[in-house]
Amino acid sequence: MKRMLLLLFVIASAPAWAQQLPHIVILATGGTIAGAGESSVGTAYTAGKLPIDALLNAVPEARKIARLTGEQVASVGSQAMHDSVWLKLAKRINELAARPDVNGIVITHGTDTEGETGYFLELTVKTNKPVVLVGAMRSATAISADGPLNLYNAIVVAANKTSGGRGVLVCMNDNIFSARDVTKTNTTNVATFQSPNTGPLGSVLDGKVEYYHKSIRKHTTETEFDVSGVQSLPKVDILYGYANMNPTLVDALVKDKVQGIVIAGVGNGNLYPTVEERVKQITRDGIVVVRSSRTGSGRVTLDAETDDKALGTVVADDLNPQKARILLQLALLKTRDPRKIQEMFFTY
Ligand code: ASP
Repeated sequence: MKRMLLLLFVIASAPAWAQQLPHIVILATGGTIAGAGESSVGTAYTAGKLPIDALLNAVPEARKIARLTGEQVASVGSQAMHDSVWLKLAKRINELAARPDVNGIVITHGTDTEGETGYFLELTVKTNKPVVLVGAMRSATAISADGPLNLYNAIVVAANKTSGGRGVLVCMNDNIFSARDVTKTNTTNVATFQSPNTGPLGSVLDGKVEYYHKSIRKHTTETEFDVSGVQSLPKVDILYGYANMNPTLVDALVKDKVQGIVIAGVGNGNLYPTVEERVKQITRDGIVVVRSSRTGSGRVTLDAETDDKALGTVVADDLNPQKARILLQLALLKTRDPRKIQEMFFTY
């Protein structure tokens, strides 16, 4: 009788024990992490081929640390990422994070624009629960694919209580980065993700998470951006600066009715003289122009070599051009006043 009771207790308590694992929702969007190719040794493959279940089946170890459920949000190479997926992700994350039975969210993503999606979510999701993006540089069918370990690590990070309240995180190659600061720096190397101005926030090794730094820019619950009713984002494009730059590029964007332009200027965000002339005119017409830099690191400083007061321009601080574009899109949902937008660039 005693043995029978014990057995009943064990059977009844097993699911309860499993329930105690943190519940992590995986939102899949495609990318190389879900890519498959003919050759296991080449760089040719198709991104976003494998469904979420196949990705999770490759990391059975993850089920020991978290209760996992998956949703396929998109199946694209992230070179095809667009506003509607960003808005869908932000809305879905906000719904999931509001649920008491969800402890963290992992987004599988192509690496090409992983940092951009991460920064968009950093500014628009309203939660202190961990939100972690992850990708891979080698497809799932490649020798030494990095996807399974990256995914396992991302789940470890999302399931860890100390990951909450740090903004949106990007977990790649054993490092944990702030989505604000991270960028892809190499076309093919597995160590491609770096935060050139700040370094990583922490690392994940042997299933253990360690943080060394904290991002102090406002994010997630502290931002003024609410995309719950937003269907599309303002049109903002990026121009790349170079010696003898063609100023008609500015005219082409104006003709295309952009609300804002980010210029990846040379050095400290400097502009070619004839481009500067055009910029001076269009800022007077209400188009917001942000000066970022093509250098890949460092701050663009206000009223330095370039006279922002005279040009009516805004500086990107240390945001790279693609991140500056995202902040400008969100800023333009609220205001067209360059002074207010400048303040946002010093806040987020
Ligand atoms: N082009 C791929 C993508 O961004 C590259 C990758 O995921 O590593 O989806």
